[in-house]
Amino acid sequence: MSIEVQNISKSYGTQKALDKVSFSVKKGEIVGFLGPNGAGKSTLMKILTTYLNADEGVAKVNCYDVNEAQIEVQQSVGYLPEHNPLYLDLYIREYLAFNADVYKVAKSRIEEVIELTGLTPESHKKIGQLSKGYRQRVGLATALLHNPEVLILDEPTTGLDPNQLVEIRNVIKNVGKDKTVFLSTHIMQEVEAICDRVIIIDQGKIVTDKKLDKLVAEEKEQIIEVEFDKVITNETLSTLANLKAYQNNGNNLWLLTFNTEEDMRPSIFDFAQANGLKTLQISLKSKNLEQIFREKTKK
Ligand code: ADP
Ligand code: MG
Repeated sequence: MSIEVQNISKSYGTQKALDKVSFSVKKGEIVGFLGPNGAGKSTLMKILTTYLNADEGVAKVNCYDVNEAQIEVQQSVGYLPEHNPLYLDLYIREYLAFNADVYKVAKSRIEEVIELTGLTPESHKKIGQLSKGYRQRVGLATALLHNPEVLILDEPTTGLDPNQLVEIRNVIKNVGKDKTVFLSTHIMQEVEAICDRVIIIDQGKIVTDKKLDKLVAEEKEQIIEVEFDKVITNETLSTLANLKAYQNNGNNLWLLTFNTEEDMRPSIFDFAQANGLKTLQISLKSKNLEQIFREKTKK
């Protein structure tokens, strides 16, 4: 396992930021850590990168315990903090050289990370002259200097414009090909764009931990609104295939929930005919991942 978290809790004074959080991330996975603001994402990432101690629980990165082997953990992880501090007066190469010294990394690695993060066209500039998107690339390049096994990226695309956002996502996907990536975001689409798996945290607790394709398949209920021309009994209605729930919305208007991805509208049409009814209207009201996220994290 690249990341193992067991029963981690953390409070700031009386405020519980993490409440018995457990999960693990396999080598090579790209996992999205999704949650609304204040959910506890940054707190957990600081614990995983040894910047903060947990009150209880065990956390390991690359099999090293964050309490017992801090140096090894730091060598194993590349961390892009939420508000990444950069020295605006330094040239990109100067800044990377400074960090290469800190990490005791060969200078030849600097050109490699510049290339990897697509910094080449801007690489002659001072950090202060760069757009927010390119500054994030400098942060990523820094995190990659010591060629860590695991990348921990705290909201890497927050504050970027739509073009920069797409570009940084591509950079992350690219560098993530041979690394384990654990990245936080509050945007569901971001998880869809980059990740294999999503872990949703809300108010310090994990509420979902699933492969993305599984989440969609399991959660993608199909909701159909249908109006029949006559009264229909619950008994008759419940003979509809794949029906999970139904609700009468007045007169002969029904909201039907199916647990299938197959379009049920033709079946409803046939069902009506077979039972001597007519359908006055049928409309699909499907959920998307964004709705799933809101449902999982609503107060
Ligand atoms: P996220 O990154 O998901 O937005 P955080 O981990 O930053 O969430 O914060 C989780 C909770 O802990 C929030 O309610 C936040 O206000 C609180 N918190 C975070 N850092 C501190 C701190 N240094 N002192 C007090 N409370 C904090
Ligand atoms: Mg945060």
